[in-house]
Amino acid sequence: MTEETLNIHTIARAQFDNALRYIEDIDKWDGLAEWLIAPQQIVSVTLPVVMDSGAVRTFRGYRVLHNTVRGPGKGGIRFHPSVDEDEVMALATWMTWKCAVVGIPFGGAKGGVACDPAHLSTDEKRRITRRFVSALGDNIGPHTDIPAPDLYTDSQTMAWVFDTYSMMHPGTNTLPVVTGKPLDIGGIVGRATATARGVYFSTEHFLALGEVPGLGGVSGTRVAIQGYGNAGRHAATIFDAEGATVIAVSDTKGTVFAPEGLDVAAVARHKDETGSVVGMANTTTMSPTDVLELECDILIPAAIETQITSRNAGAVKARVVSEAANGPTTPAADEILADRGIPVLPDILANAGGVAVSYFEWVQNLQNEEWDEDRVDESLRKRMYRATEAVITKRAELLKGLDASRQRWAAGHPDDPPLREPDYRMAATAFAVSRVMATEVERGVWP
Ligand code: NAD
Repeated sequence: MTEETLNIHTIARAQFDNALRYIEDIDKWDGLAEWLIAPQQIVSVTLPVVMDSGAVRTFRGYRVLHNTVRGPGKGGIRFHPSVDEDEVMALATWMTWKCAVVGIPFGGAKGGVACDPAHLSTDEKRRITRRFVSALGDNIGPHTDIPAPDLYTDSQTMAWVFDTYSMMHPGTNTLPVVTGKPLDIGGIVGRATATARGVYFSTEHFLALGEVPGLGGVSGTRVAIQGYGNAGRHAATIFDAEGATVIAVSDTKGTVFAPEGLDVAAVARHKDETGSVVGMANTTTMSPTDVLELECDILIPAAIETQITSRNAGAVKARVVSEAANGPTTPAADEILADRGIPVLPDILANAGGVAVSYFEWVQNLQNEEWDEDRVDESLRKRMYRATEAVITKRAELLKGLDASRQRWAAGHPDDPPLREPDYRMAATAFAVSRVMATEVERGVWP
C-alpha cells in the first residue's frame, strides 16, 4: 500500500476533484474547474526582526487570496513552524468553501508566519506581527482581504494588526481591516467562543435532525476533544454547559482522561496556572493522540491538520466526528470512517462559526455599531442551522443522483472504481463549489 500524503494542499485539491465528480454543471464551461481551484494571489514576504537578545532573525510570511468572486478575502493568520506556501494555499481554499457553505459574502484567504511561538516572547511576537502587516501593505484592507486569529494568534495579535494598518492609513475607518479584535478596539462580543459555539450548533442540529441513529442531541453524550486552545477549550466549556460529559481533552503535552467526566472549569484553571492540561488531579494521562481513540459519542479534533489518518481511523470509537480544526481528517481516513458508519461533520461546516461571527464584527465595524450578545448568538445559531440543513439536503440530492453520477464518471474513466457514496464533506464541498461556480458564471470573466 502506498503511504497517504499528509500535504494539505494535495488533500484540498483531492477533495475538490472528488466533489467535482458529482457536479454535472462543471462540464458546461471548459476550464471552469481550474478557475475555481487556482489561487488568485500568493504573497510571500521576508521579515527581518530584532529578537530580545539583540540578534536579527529572518522569518517568512505568506498571505494567499484563493478566490474573491463572492466578496473580499477572509481568513486567519497563524504562527506555526509548519507554515509554508502549500499549507497557506490549502487553508485559503478551504476558507472559500467555508464562507460559501455558511452563506457569507466573503472569499477565501489565509496567512501565516513560519515561526515557533512557544519560543517567542510577547515583544518578539509583536515585532513579527507589525513587520508582517507592513510587508503585506495594501494586500490586506477592509474591502480586499480581512485577516482574523488562527493557530497561536489571538485578540492581542489582531490588536497589533489593526494598530499597524491604522498607522499606515490615518484618517479613515480602519476597524474592519481585521476581526477577532479585543472588545474595546471594535471587537464583537462572542468572537472568542464563536468557533466552538458554531461546532456546538452544527453538531446539535445534525443530531436533532436524526443523522446519527440513537443520538438525538448533545445533552447526555460523552465528548472527547483534541486541542485546548481557542477552539478546544471553549468547546469543552460549551458542550459541558449543554449537558454533555467531557471525558478527555488534550494539548501538545498529552491527553487527560476521566471516564466519569472532567471538571472543565478546574481543567481551565489548571491550564492557566501550569501551561498544560496534563497533571490535572484525578485524571489519567495519555499521549496527545490517544484522545482520538477513546470510546465516546462525539470526537472533536480541535488542534491541527492530518490527525485522523489511515493509521488510526480504524481505531476511532466515536459515533460522530465534529471538526473544529481545519483539515484534521485525511481523505483515506474519511473513507475508513465512512465504511465504519461514523459520520464526519466537516471543517468547512462545523467550524464556520468563527468566520460567521468575524463577518458580524466586520458589519458592526463598517456601521460603527455594537451588536449585543443575544443578537450575535441568535444570528450564529440561525446560520449554523441553515448551513447544516443545506449540507444534509445536498448529500441527499447527491445520493439520489448517484447512479447518474456513476454513469457519467464511468463513461470518461472506465478503469476507475465506481464513485463512492458521498459523505458530508463531499456534500459540503459540492454545495460550496456550486455556489462559487454560479457566481463566477453570473459575473463572467473580466474584461
Ligand atoms: P490555538 O493556538 O488557540 O490552540 C491550539 C491548540 O492545539 C493548543 O491547545 C495546542 O496545545 C494544541 N495542539 C497543537 N498541536 C497539537 C498536537 N500535535 N497534538 C495535540 N494538540 C495540539 O488554536 P485555535 O485557534 O484553537 O485553532 C485550532 C484549530 O482550529 C486549527 O486547525 C485552526 O485552523 C482551527 N480553527 C480556528 C478558528 C479560530 O477562530 N481560532 C476558526 C476555525 C478553525
